[in-house]
Amino acid sequence: MGEALRQAMEAPRSVAVLGATGSIGCNTLDLIRRNRSAYVVEALTANRNVNLLIAQALEFKPKLAVIGDEAQYGALKEALAGSGIEAAAGPAAVSDAAARPAQWVMAAIVGAAGLQPTLTALRRGAVVALANKECLVCAGGLMMREVERHGAVLLPVDSEHNAIFQVFDFERPERVERIILTASGGPFRTWSRQEMAQVSPAQAVAHPNWEMGAKISVDSATMFNKGLELIEAYHLFPVRPEQIEVLVHPQSVVHSLVAYVDGSVLAQMGTPDMRTPIAYTLGWPDRVPAPAARLNLAHIGTLEFTAPDHERFPALSLARHALAEGGSAPTVLNAANEVAVAGFLARKIGFLHIAEIVQTTLETLPARSLASLDDVMAADHEARHQADEIMRELEP
Ligand code: NAD
Ligand code: MG
Repeated sequence: MGEALRQAMEAPRSVAVLGATGSIGCNTLDLIRRNRSAYVVEALTANRNVNLLIAQALEFKPKLAVIGDEAQYGALKEALAGSGIEAAAGPAAVSDAAARPAQWVMAAIVGAAGLQPTLTALRRGAVVALANKECLVCAGGLMMREVERHGAVLLPVDSEHNAIFQVFDFERPERVERIILTASGGPFRTWSRQEMAQVSPAQAVAHPNWEMGAKISVDSATMFNKGLELIEAYHLFPVRPEQIEVLVHPQSVVHSLVAYVDGSVLAQMGTPDMRTPIAYTLGWPDRVPAPAARLNLAHIGTLEFTAPDHERFPALSLARHALAEGGSAPTVLNAANEVAVAGFLARKIGFLHIAEIVQTTLETLPARSLASLDDVMAADHEARHQADEIMRELEP
């Protein structure tokens, strides 16, 4: 039994939650709250929502609470004075939180901003529950090498990857024919391009099945989320890109599937509640209870499946192309998408411009090889700058 595994089975489990105030962070703390004595909270971090971080710190009594936004440090420090909880601020302090000796770390920061702290946790051989898919997309090769080198354990939280992780035969990967990621299709699954051209941020963020942060909700609406997940799956599982398929499934009950050489197809199912995949990682290698509504297939009655429409949703093809291209192409795709989604949420551009900006950024910047974290950061930075320029030209 590996060291990480042995530690993982010791109780109570010490945990850190990076991105504690977000949708995944709050769901994680909800599970911890339900079995408080099983966990010791080492550290909690947030970016701007200092009031929620303060409330969480006072409830969960971490040793350290970190706010990314330095302007909020005073408020955090004052509220935690006399509590015995250390307060800190700034991006470096977020990574310090990841360096604390928690056995289990929830990586739930949104975007490439989560890369540095996630790497910090991996480099000390922690069990890392990964929600933050953008860091695998922008630096997957590098991250997986660090997992290997430091004997860390990376457990996917993303519901599709968590599903595949549960049914993938890691001992006989050559017996896997393909993996099938399901996609809800988002709020505009049946809409025309013309209709999509007019949508507001509020419409894009209103996901039919899942309650999530704004960025991933927009990604679900454009289907960039599935594009990012395609690249995420490539790094997490020993499969070739052409073995990864996408299937639209509006009910979000079948969370993903693994097809074997004998024709067997194994799926993991459940109601759409992130507390189930989070609980899988929190309890791993055991299983712990989660309060999600129980799946009642008789009540649901019908499950639908359709092939994705690449004409209306170009994001999937762009991601597949970036994955085939390799090197910095996925880093560029992710960075350009982050810039474009922020621009859309700020009402600077229209919904369809998001994929246009990503495509033009990819076309403008030739893919380079990525040998180091500095290379990743440089490619990310350059792509953000380029995407910003392209966006400026589109602004009304
Ligand atoms: P969210 O926006 O609700 O929360 C993001 C969290 O990260 C917040 O705590 C925020 O304070 C923190 N944060 C944001 N920017 C930061 C920065 N620059 N530095 C430090 N901290 C920062 O997002 P979410 O929906 O919880 O998603 C988090 C991650 O999990 C994303 O990568 C998303 O793709 C992934 N994910 C989410 C869901 C879901 O159901 N919400 C499902 C699968 C995967
Ligand atoms: Mg997902």
